[in-house]
Amino acid sequence: NASRLLGKTVLVTGASGGIGAATAILFAKGGANVILVARRADALKTVSDACVAAHKDSGLQQGGKFAAIQLDVSDKAQVAALWDKVPQDLQDVDVLVNNAGYVLGVEHVGDIADADIEGMFATNVFGLISMTQLLVRKFKAKQSGHVINLGSIAGIEPYAGGSIYTATKHAVNAFTGSLLRELVNTPIRVTEIQPGMVETEFSVVRYRGDTKAAAKVYEGLQPLTAGDIAEEIVWAAARPPHVNIAQTLVFPVNQA
Ligand code: NDP
Repeated sequence: NASRLLGKTVLVTGASGGIGAATAILFAKGGANVILVARRADALKTVSDACVAAHKDSGLQQGGKFAAIQLDVSDKAQVAALWDKVPQDLQDVDVLVNNAGYVLGVEHVGDIADADIEGMFATNVFGLISMTQLLVRKFKAKQSGHVINLGSIAGIEPYAGGSIYTATKHAVNAFTGSLLRELVNTPIRVTEIQPGMVETEFSVVRYRGDTKAAAKVYEGLQPLTAGDIAEEIVWAAARPPHVNIAQTLVFPVNQA
C-alpha cells in the first residue's frame, strides 16, 4: 500500500541519473520527501525539479520536500559532514537507498589500473558502508528505518572482464546479508535489490564514454528500464512494517 510512504523521508544516493533518479521521482510521486545525493550538481537539480513536478501532479498534500546534496559517497569526510548539508526538516530519514555505484572498464585482471580498482571499491563498497553506518545509527536511535542496497546479478555470478565490479557486488551482498541478520528482531528492515540488465548510463560509464560499445550490450534484447527497478524499490519500501523484502533478483525476459 503506497499510502505507507506518505510524508516519509527517503535518502537516495546516485540520484542524478538512471535507477536513482527514477527512484527519487517515484518516491516523490508517492508523497514522500526525498534527499537526492550525487556528485553532479546540475544533473541533481534536473532530477530534483522533476521530483517537484511529479509531486505536484500527484495532487498529494504529504511529502513534496526535496533537497539536492552534492556529495561523493566515496569521500569519508563528505559523508561524515552529510547532516550539515541536509535541511533540518529532512533530517529524520526513514529509508536509505544505497544506489550509487558503477563499473569502469572490461579489462582482464592483469591489465586493470589501480585507480579503477580503488575507485570501484571506494564507491560501491566503502561508500555504501559509510552511508549505511551513518543511517543505521539514526535508525537504531529512533527504532525504525529501512536500508535498501543495490546489489546486482554480478553479486551472485562473476563474469570475465568484470572481476573488480563483481567483487564489489559480492561484497555488497555479503555486507547486506550480515546487516539483515544483525538487525533481526528490530523494526529496522534491510533489503537487497539485485537487478539484471538495466539500460541506463551504466554501460556508457563501463565503456568509458564509448556510446556505440555501450549500446551494443542491449542489441537484440529488451533490457529493464530504470523505472522497472524504481518500482521494485518503492514497492519494497511500501510493505507493511512486519514484512521485510530481504532480496529480489529481477531480469529482463531475455536474460537468465
Ligand atoms: P548510472 O550510471 O545511470 O547511475 C549511477 C549513479 O550513481 C549516478 O547518479 C552517479 O551520479 C552516481 N554515482 C556514481 N558514483 C558516485 C559517488 N562516488 N558518489 C555519489 N554518487 C555517485 O547507473 P545505474 O542507474 O544503472 O546504476 C545504479 C546502481 O544499480 C549501481 O549501484 C549499479 O551497480 C546497479 N546496477 C545496475 C545495473 C544495470 O544494468 N544498469 C544492473 C545491476 C545493478 P554522479 O556521476 O552525479 O555522481
